[in-house]
Amino acid sequence: MADTVAQPATILVVDDVPTNRLVLERQLVRLGHRVVLAEDGREAIELLRAQPVDLIMLDIMMPVMNGFEALAVMKADPALRHLPVVVVSALDDIASIARCVTLGAEDFLFKPVERVLLEARVESCLERKRLHDSEQAAYAAAEAANRAKGAFVSMVSHELKNPLTGIAGYTDMLLLETVGPLNELQGECMRAVRNLAGLMKTLLADLTDISQIESGHLHLAPAPTSLGVAVEAACDSVRKLIADKQHRLSVDLPANLPHIVADEVRLVQILTNLLSNAIKYTSAPGTITLSARRADANLIQVAVRDSGIGIPAAEQGRIFEPFFRSSEARIGAEPGTGLGLNITRHLVKLQGGQIWFESASGEGTTFFFTLPAAGAALPPAEPATSLGTTFLW
Ligand code: ADP
Repeated sequence: MADTVAQPATILVVDDVPTNRLVLERQLVRLGHRVVLAEDGREAIELLRAQPVDLIMLDIMMPVMNGFEALAVMKADPALRHLPVVVVSALDDIASIARCVTLGAEDFLFKPVERVLLEARVESCLERKRLHDSEQAAYAAAEAANRAKGAFVSMVSHELKNPLTGIAGYTDMLLLETVGPLNELQGECMRAVRNLAGLMKTLLADLTDISQIESGHLHLAPAPTSLGVAVEAACDSVRKLIADKQHRLSVDLPANLPHIVADEVRLVQILTNLLSNAIKYTSAPGTITLSARRADANLIQVAVRDSGIGIPAAEQGRIFEPFFRSSEARIGAEPGTGLGLNITRHLVKLQGGQIWFESASGEGTTFFFTLPAAGAALPPAEPATSLGTTFLW
């Protein structure tokens, strides 16, 4: 009577001697497994590429393609590399077995194969293969769930964008009183609606960025870019926030700074995000400084320093996490999604740079980031106001 295993597998037996194949086949079938046969390494590889197999019992000395060559082909093929191989060899062939183990064989057996040892080795190899397969399946399921989540977020962001643009447009129309006068209270309500629509627009833009980054679909167009021009665009977009808080912003860029290799729109986004955080998390009136220098032959380093509330030591390890916002009441009072720094870090890293910060509670924060410098130092192409000068607001 055959004492069969609980989980039958498909096992490929590779041996050029028909009697050896037959003996091993009988033993494995008796254990409850399905067996396929090959006469040499080449036939084995062809078979492995044509049908799924769980384990390979491989002889070493064979014509056409021997065991070493077959092992080398398998381990070089990403589709076959994970398959366990048990080398079945003659007792006096220790050196060959050692070579097979070096080439990636999982285990070995000596001929004539002893039944109990065969069962133990086959089972332990199959157990490792099952573990590997279930890990792969879990990974594939997680990937699929992540893709579905990304597609959902991207679809929802897209569908919400149009109505939101409509709400902002109609609110602007009402605020401009083109459809009739507003009393003071109505004006206040409309301004609140306009602000909230702005926050939702930022959240949707952040969600779109995150889903594109996670799915690897974020489009970047790196090219030699003027840091001065990008800094001016970023400063323009935070001008009102600075004025509202009566902060002092100073920008200091050296005259001979080379261009940065970056996507200009995304460089402006990085700068705007760091500046708006510095503005938000600094009590009025504070000082914010943006400066840059050449870190080495290949990198430009930019720093955004504020005199703000700082980041508590206990939270410093978490601020780049998506959706992280400090538990401090002063932070919670400011508008934000907790996605800005996470996106900023991705944007810097995707463009070949690094980002880090130094901060102490109550003493302010400085964010630093690097991006690649364009090959040669380019002649000053910046607008006169932004290079070789310090400009203050
Ligand atoms: P958000 O500003 O929308 O909350 P971010 O991802 O930009 O999200 O920042 C995450 C958190 O990091 C902030 O909520 C805040 O706690 C902290 N943080 C970022 N920049 C500063 C800064 N310049 N000063 C103090 N805390 C900061």
